[in-house]
Amino acid sequence: MEIQCRIGADIHMAFDELTSLADTYEYNKEALERTERWAQISLDVHKQHRDDLGYRQSLYGVLQGGRWEDLRRSTAKKLGQMDFDGYGLGGAFLKSDLGEILKWCNEELPEGKPRHLLGLSRPDDILIGSENGADTFDCVAPTREARHGRLYTKYGYINIEKYAGSLDVIDEHCDCPVCQAGYTRDELRALLKSQDPEDREKYFTLASIHNLRFTIRLTEEIRQAILDGRFEEYKQQFMKDYYGFSPKGAANEKKNTNKQ
Ligand SMILES: [Zn+2]
Repeated sequence: MEIQCRIGADIHMAFDELTSLADTYEYNKEALERTERWAQISLDVHKQHRDDLGYRQSLYGVLQGGRWEDLRRSTAKKLGQMDFDGYGLGGAFLKSDLGEILKWCNEELPEGKPRHLLGLSRPDDILIGSENGADTFDCVAPTREARHGRLYTKYGYINIEKYAGSLDVIDEHCDCPVCQAGYTRDELRALLKSQDPEDREKYFTLASIHNLRFTIRLTEEIRQAILDGRFEEYKQQFMKDYYGFSPKGAANEKKNTNKQ
């Protein structure tokens, strides 16, 4: 907790134990009690140090509890009464359980404090998260996948290595500086395949800018759709475009091919 203060993080996360999908109910209960004890200690230490740098730093409590409704609801209630600035929604999730688990947590948390979904950023996760009360997100996927050649487009992701000779930009619907500058798929592929580390470095930067802008634009569009009262319609259309199926149909991401 002291290190988070010293490095100047704007949002600190309380200490927590992340359990795995294989852990039992008993283990989750024990781990959750530990996480709740740590929540109080984190809060106490944070209070002593949060103004050290001359500006207020925030602390979020982290909700665990695996896939069990009683654990999820009780910890949301307990941490919800503690003096946190916001809440991190944590855990290893089966995609099919994600929405329901988030709903349990968000029904118990106090209104008016932000809820942050920890470590998920695939488009369908962001849609499910937003639908069930998550306000903010973080994840390494957009940049890590960019570095490995996976670039997001309106109609699903592409593997840039397959686009030798293509004069198309990554995504003609994209407003990121890379697409706007007219970098072609062929140029980007050549940078990635180059033997020169500087070229590859340049590819990593450009590809990361594109995937991050795609992800941020998705959240902007979701926010606008919620404000306009057409979230459901937006979600259906996005899923159809990106994954090639509607979320109410067979939810099988393997159907997502690199559609062109
Ligand atoms: Zn772009």
